[in-house]
Amino acid sequence: MKIRSISFKITLWFTLVLIIILTFTYFVILSISNKIIQKSIKDTLIETVQNNLDDFEYHSSIDKATTNGVDHLIHYGNGYLQISVNFLQHINGVYTGLYQEDFTLIYGEDPISIATKNLSFHDSIIQSIKIDDTLYYVFDKKIPLDRTNNLWLRGIISEKQGTAQIYSITKLSLITFPMIVFISSIIGYMMIKRMLNPIHKMSATAVQIGKEGDFKVRIGLEKGKDELHELANSFDNMLEKLEDAFLKEQQFTSDASHELRTPISVISAQCQLSLGEKRSIEEYQKDLQVIERQSKKMEKLINDMLDFTRLEMKSQKYIMEPVDLTQLVSSVCLDMSLIKEREISLTCKVDENISCIGNYELLSRAIINLISNAYRYGKEKGSIFVNLFVEEDQIKLTVQDDGIGIKQDEQDKIFHRFYQSDTSRTGEGNGLGLAMVYEIVKFHGGSIYVTSQLGKGSTFTITLPRKK
Ligand code: ADP
Repeated sequence: MKIRSISFKITLWFTLVLIIILTFTYFVILSISNKIIQKSIKDTLIETVQNNLDDFEYHSSIDKATTNGVDHLIHYGNGYLQISVNFLQHINGVYTGLYQEDFTLIYGEDPISIATKNLSFHDSIIQSIKIDDTLYYVFDKKIPLDRTNNLWLRGIISEKQGTAQIYSITKLSLITFPMIVFISSIIGYMMIKRMLNPIHKMSATAVQIGKEGDFKVRIGLEKGKDELHELANSFDNMLEKLEDAFLKEQQFTSDASHELRTPISVISAQCQLSLGEKRSIEEYQKDLQVIERQSKKMEKLINDMLDFTRLEMKSQKYIMEPVDLTQLVSSVCLDMSLIKEREISLTCKVDENISCIGNYELLSRAIINLISNAYRYGKEKGSIFVNLFVEEDQIKLTVQDDGIGIKQDEQDKIFHRFYQSDTSRTGEGNGLGLAMVYEIVKFHGGSIYVTSQLGKGSTFTITLPRKK
């Protein structure tokens, strides 16, 4: 048991609270029991005195007294007191005595005779008197004999009669309560430890990842519905995403370095060539043009990578506002139709009043990328059709070309970062254009897909949610 562990601390607090509750319960039980016991002592006193009233009789002459040989006959006044033998059987610790008004004990027992002399008689009232740290209850009953003469029947009981019961309660509590505390603490500790097990596993997993940098490990708890299981599952999901992001990042870095290596190698080779031998001005100019072209390629690649990462990591705040897509697509088409590359024609068919919530810059970038690709992979004197319309409450933008087309098995891969089909590798692209379009569309809550036939052309379709 680790002293600083949470299980230990919770058990300690729980045990302390339990001790406080049990102590409180003990005093409550004690106080209630004491009240009940005191009441029962007083009831016994009254009952015994009442019963003793029947145990004696006063007779004016001895003839009237029945001499059964067992009862006592005491000469009193002008007559006789006939007292039953039962009188002295002090049941439940009650002592009874028959007194004259002047406290002279005629018959019976008085355990505190000296003290009772100072305690005046009161009919049918319970009085109390403390002698040598012991409390006694006293109950008197007046017995009128004639007009002037009264006798008093006095019952006395010690409050200590209840002490034995209180002692039993205390003894029982002193045995059972520590046992309850001990057993509850052990069971509590084991339950807490079991409940906190997921936390131990989580911490062990975190330590392992921290030490080994291995994102493949998982907490892997058995199924459970409590908060800790939920937390462990969320933790596992997070690890899965982290691993995914980590692998993507690794792939991205390796792809980026690979892409940058080609222009750098070309620049380096070109420099070596130029510096290696004497060359004419025209030749130097040509060499510099190659270097410039490769530098621009690198610059574009770096800018595209930065933009892509910003979008993917959502590290930049893009302003989202109503965008008039009718106007946006029309103006992009108008600008790009001026390219007139390899005599490819661009036709644009745009429906009126189509708008969405989005970022103007990003959306125009996506459309430009698709149309650029259509030019780049289009056939000479071919045609490009751009169409914007609404279908089933969704905005659709299609960019169709009649160019080289894409192989069936490549149609999913072209949206991955740096993916280029073998036929396009030597071109000016860098494999980030479609990945960028994919991220932009995803960012706007839409989707993108392609239908294509090799050698016949491709159609890229973007769907976007309509502005409500
Ligand atoms: P790149 O810079 O190479 O064009 P993209 O991400 O824009 O990179 O495209 C990825 C690959 O998809 C391209 O290399 C090309 O093989 C293929 N591709 C994209 N658009 C088209 C198209 N309209 N027709 C045929 N192939 C295309």
